[in-house]
Amino acid sequence: AKEHQRGRPTIFSKSHETEIRTRSTIEQALRCADLESELSLCFQPLFDVAHQRPIAFEALARWHNPELGNIPPNVFIAIAERTELINTLTQVLLRKALDAASTWPEEIHVSFNLSVRDILSVDSMTRIIAIVQSSGVEPGRIGFEVTESALMGDFEQAHDAIARLRALGTRVSLDDFGTGYSSLSYVHRLPLDTIKIDRSFVLDIETRATSRNIIRTIVDLCRNLEIGCVVEGMETEAQADILRDLGCNTMQGYFFSKPLAEKDVLDFLSLSEVS
Ligand code: C2E
Ligand code: CA
Ligand code: CA
Ligand code: CA
Repeated sequence: AKEHQRGRPTIFSKSHETEIRTRSTIEQALRCADLESELSLCFQPLFDVAHQRPIAFEALARWHNPELGNIPPNVFIAIAERTELINTLTQVLLRKALDAASTWPEEIHVSFNLSVRDILSVDSMTRIIAIVQSSGVEPGRIGFEVTESALMGDFEQAHDAIARLRALGTRVSLDDFGTGYSSLSYVHRLPLDTIKIDRSFVLDIETRATSRNIIRTIVDLCRNLEIGCVVEGMETEAQADILRDLGCNTMQGYFFSKPLAEKDVLDFLSLSEVS
């Protein structure tokens, strides 16, 4: 038995072990981090294409750790999401996002990503609502983005959380639309304001009629349901042109702008003649 314990369990490949070690290093660093100073936000504009102006910015988390350097958000958010650490991150980031938004022109909205664990925790939602209420930012200017995976775990709880956000006056978008299992069922059963069409449909839009048809269908669906529609991830003018022809009006992608440092948002707006 001793021999067995000492041997490596063969189901773990070396790369899996490395992955676990990296993950626990990052989790440890996150737990010890001074989140106030190490976390920051970039802001990527959402464009109203018909009027050629930015109407909102999505807040995107950045983490710079003195020892580990810059860790990409899809890495550290995923690690934080495995524990209640994410709830602390969300609160720190939301305060920063609303502080930034409070310096922008009134008509510019801010969009903020929530995690499954935020949505599924009544306590976390209560804190989030308190942060909104004490921010001084008009709730109608604030949008929360939730992914389908957030809704899959516990539909009733997700429904209640979304209803609380709507009662507060903030808006709710379904992010990464089309990548989950029952996207349409969520649209049907939840009080959503906006759908964000996932970037994966834009990638091959020039070569695949199927991708164009899917986008056209989602745009029509939103119009019929009278909900907003945002399409993400266009990197070229050709993609943006096709999307416009398919009826997309609100677009977010590198073609319009990469995520901006917080300090560059106001300059960006004045160049776009909004402020
Ligand atoms: P997301 O919510 O789907 O955010 C959009 C991501 O696509 C961002 O990546 C953005 O920089 C990227 N993107 C936008 N336009 C383009 C484009 O034209 N081409 C390409 N290739 N990419 C584009 P980012 O900032 O690396 O964030 C990755 C993910 O991390 C986000 O995906 C979101 O799921 C998560 N995330 C970021 N910030 C937060 C946060 O504050 N809270 C939570 N819970 N999740 C966050
Ligand atoms: Ca998002
Ligand atoms: Ca997205
Ligand atoms: Ca995504």
